[in-house]
Amino acid sequence: MSSSTPMMRQYLEIKSQHPDAILFFRLGDFYEMFMEDAVTASRVLGLTLTSRNKGAVEQVPLCGIPYHSSQGYIARLVDNGFKVAICEQVEDPREAKGIVKREVVQVVTPGLVVDSENLQPKENNFLLALAAGEQELYGLSCVDITTGAFRVTECRGLDELRSEIISLNPREILVSADGISESLSTQLQSVLAERLVNRLPEWVFEEDRARRLLHDFFAVSNLQGFGCEHLVVGVRAAGAVLHYLQQTRQGGLEHIRSLAPYACADYLILDAATRRNLELTATQGEGRKKGSLLGVMDRTLTAMGGRKLRHWINYPLNVAVQIRARLQAVGELREKSLLREDLRECLDGVYDLERLGARIAMAGAGAKDLAALRVSLGKVPGILALFSDLEAPLLCQLGQVIDPLEDVRDLIAEALVDDPPFVLREGGLIRDGFSAELDDLRLISREGKGWIVRLEQQERERTGIGSLKVRYNKVFGYYIEITRTHLARVPEDYQRKQTLVNAERFITPALKEYEDKVLGAEERIQALEYDLFQEVRQQVALQGRRLLATADALAELDVLLGLADLAHEADYVCPQIDESTMLHIEEGRHPVVERMNLGERFVPNDVLLDTTDNQLLIITGPNMAGKSTFMRQVALITLMAHLGSFVPARAARIGLVDRIFTRVGASDNLASGQSTFMVEMTETANILHNATPRSLIILDEIGRGTSTFDGVSIAWAVAEYLHEHASVAAKTLFATHYHELADLALTCKRVKNWNVAVREWNDQVIFLRKIVKGGASHSYGIQVARLAGIPPAVVERAKEVLRNLEAGEFSGEGQPALARGRAREQVPSPQLSLFDSAADELRRKLAEVDVSVLTPLEALNVLDRLKKMV
Ligand code: ADP
Repeated sequence: MSSSTPMMRQYLEIKSQHPDAILFFRLGDFYEMFMEDAVTASRVLGLTLTSRNKGAVEQVPLCGIPYHSSQGYIARLVDNGFKVAICEQVEDPREAKGIVKREVVQVVTPGLVVDSENLQPKENNFLLALAAGEQELYGLSCVDITTGAFRVTECRGLDELRSEIISLNPREILVSADGISESLSTQLQSVLAERLVNRLPEWVFEEDRARRLLHDFFAVSNLQGFGCEHLVVGVRAAGAVLHYLQQTRQGGLEHIRSLAPYACADYLILDAATRRNLELTATQGEGRKKGSLLGVMDRTLTAMGGRKLRHWINYPLNVAVQIRARLQAVGELREKSLLREDLRECLDGVYDLERLGARIAMAGAGAKDLAALRVSLGKVPGILALFSDLEAPLLCQLGQVIDPLEDVRDLIAEALVDDPPFVLREGGLIRDGFSAELDDLRLISREGKGWIVRLEQQERERTGIGSLKVRYNKVFGYYIEITRTHLARVPEDYQRKQTLVNAERFITPALKEYEDKVLGAEERIQALEYDLFQEVRQQVALQGRRLLATADALAELDVLLGLADLAHEADYVCPQIDESTMLHIEEGRHPVVERMNLGERFVPNDVLLDTTDNQLLIITGPNMAGKSTFMRQVALITLMAHLGSFVPARAARIGLVDRIFTRVGASDNLASGQSTFMVEMTETANILHNATPRSLIILDEIGRGTSTFDGVSIAWAVAEYLHEHASVAAKTLFATHYHELADLALTCKRVKNWNVAVREWNDQVIFLRKIVKGGASHSYGIQVARLAGIPPAVVERAKEVLRNLEAGEFSGEGQPALARGRAREQVPSPQLSLFDSAADELRRKLAEVDVSVLTPLEALNVLDRLKKMV
């Protein structure tokens, strides 16, 4: 690479400070990229790659983009996981001695994008830092510079940490480059994948340094005021976040006004598997919002409301009074439908005040942003007027916080024209009457122009040349043009400037005098308008705190309104929340399935769970009957109630729950390299270790990932443990296709059997979708196989085989095979009960086949194998 020119030396010097970023090097009106950066950028952005020193020995790959259209290109690079360092000319090239001074003024990374092209309106864009402490304590801090939110917390154990990362969903993560973090990253691989992970030097995470940095930044002498003095590991992470911000951005962080601590234990805890299984904010398959709980619940009108609802779903409350306050507000808004409509109408025109506020603070806001702020603030008095009819304390509280910021609105209205241009340096921004100086300049410019227009008329009369024209171009400024035929009549005082084929161009001293006035004024107008705009923006920025508080209150109003709307439209009911350990839902529905499943009417179901008689419900029923749907609906209703939403049911009484656990299906955690069964058992172990009598546990087909005997034994033992150990005696729904588990109820007092009703009709199975008392008698696997399209001959043969089996070894319907003759503490012993008299290989093989879990293809293979044995 040629370092022979001074500019190239400057480039290499700057590039060496940003080796991991693509360097946008400002050259006049372009950003240029060189060498590997050029090769990468041209590939990602589809730009033409050229080279400097073309033809020479030392060719340098090069590509460039015009600076005014850089935003889109930056967005695309960042979206592809690159960092972009923006290097500007930091002195006026005209005044530079030698080479123009250049500096990197900003590094844009996925966690630090600010332009809207790269942001999802209804999602926070978090940058996250992780610090590892002793005994599996982790510090975690995140910032969203587009809203100013800066939070810190600590998590105990990897599960909690994983869950927290999933719920924050950061695009970029900072970790220390030391060994502990190295192995941590490996363990977190599944959640870190697809996010940009930056390893920063160890010292960045040191506590003393972190504290010093935070103290200086917030101008405080300790962190007590923020309530995070004690979060030692958390503070280390927060320090790393701040360090990174200061390294990558030059100033513009004033809108980050506090560090907000939170404790996971202050909320209903959801582990990572549960968030995934319940599809809270994204579906499991495609990761889309549509089809998730958020997808159904989101009726928010503003982007900030959308972000808040997402937060509420990720962090449901676990304090009854707080939940009731929200429910009361939703209830009132639901009742007052006219008022609700009026409020929604007003809110509909409110822009993203949080992000506007942040852009204004970061001095990145344009005139259009200020205009959007004015329009939004214009809606606030209307909203506040409607508050006088509201009574719920939470709503009244919001009414107190919402500030119409009339001073700000008036300032913008007085200063800016209604529809200002994008470009800030070409004038046309500021309204007449705002600045006397500007008005004067405009008068001069207008008068000058008027004088020039009048001049044409006067000169025509004076010279008698009807075709005389006064014109303007950039080279000569204003001039008088006279066609060749009339040249004889040109007056003495005209000075010739240019000769064309058919005409000549002249100027006069008076014309030039006015020209100076007009052009000089125009130049000054543009500069002055830009200054005035900046001043206004600065003044608005000073009110950032008020603006953010109002934004937050409007966001909350938006969420509550949305919940009220949903409750009204989807016919939800207000849950009764109390401190009991009871969970009683009458005619509950699955909030998502009831909307998606258009072909089939959704059948509501009841559930009663408590810690006295109905602690653990075993739910049996054939595949496809609706077991999972039922269990998830119980979990979702519980969660919705905790976030303050009405619920899809006829009535619901919900005692506070501290955690929801789910172990559903054989989730595809293959990315992390663990076997399905291993994942299943790890998740189950987590439940057994952490559940409390206040928890709600959903277990779906546990033990399925191993052989039948192992599976049934494990399932049995897990259920028994949850029943017997007072410390984990959590309310549990346990779906299984092992009918043997029904026998647990014989010996375990708080275990109850339920099944999903199906009816046989003409040898077909009809799903009734109703949960009824008692164990299922029959697995209906063969009927379901038929539904799935297994050829009739195979189905018939399977039925024959089943009949033989039942006549032989099975003890018949409804007879407790496992409990027969066993004391309750005995572990199930399938060898004894099922196969003690097994005679031949065929029988054993057949008995091992679990028809209810076979795919059609597997069933065929099994049949084929069996057939070969006879
Ligand atoms: P299982 O877990 O027993 O195999 P699922 O819960 O997956 O069964 O339910 C199978 C299908 O039945 C679901 O896709 C859903 O569309 C439908 N379904 C489940 N429960 C109901 C219900 N209560 N009302 C209507 N349709 C239901």
